[in-house]
Amino acid sequence: MKQSEQHDFLIESLNLEFKTIKAMVVIYCRDKHQSASLCDECEDFLAYAHTRLDRCPYGGSKPTCKLCPIHCYKADYKARSKEIMRYAGPKMLFRHPYLAIRHLMAGKKEVEPKPPANASNRHMRVAINKINS
Ligand SMILES: [Zn+2]
Repeated sequence: MKQSEQHDFLIESLNLEFKTIKAMVVIYCRDKHQSASLCDECEDFLAYAHTRLDRCPYGGSKPTCKLCPIHCYKADYKARSKEIMRYAGPKMLFRHPYLAIRHLMAGKKEVEPKPPANASNRHMRVAINKINS
């Protein structure tokens, strides 16, 4: 497996969350940065969001970021995230109703106060690579 392919691998529920974030960044960048494809700044934000999802200690039982007790984003990314969500969040229901509704439903799930041990996507990825090597 190539390095880039390993980077892309996220389990289904996390991948769905990544798709949701990406859809919001695309809306935001097109309207605010007048960029047909993502500008460097938004590309960088998306790569950061991907890494955070990969390393989220909750893994597949990850709560929505709003409800999460951990708050893993660095301050500047957190500020950008807020701005993007505030702008694009309300537009999601019309442009990506499936993703928006999935996200709303995820927000109703019970949050475990502590993540289980070794549950992160990255931990799983490393374990699978060990088996395959
Ligand atoms: Zn942008």
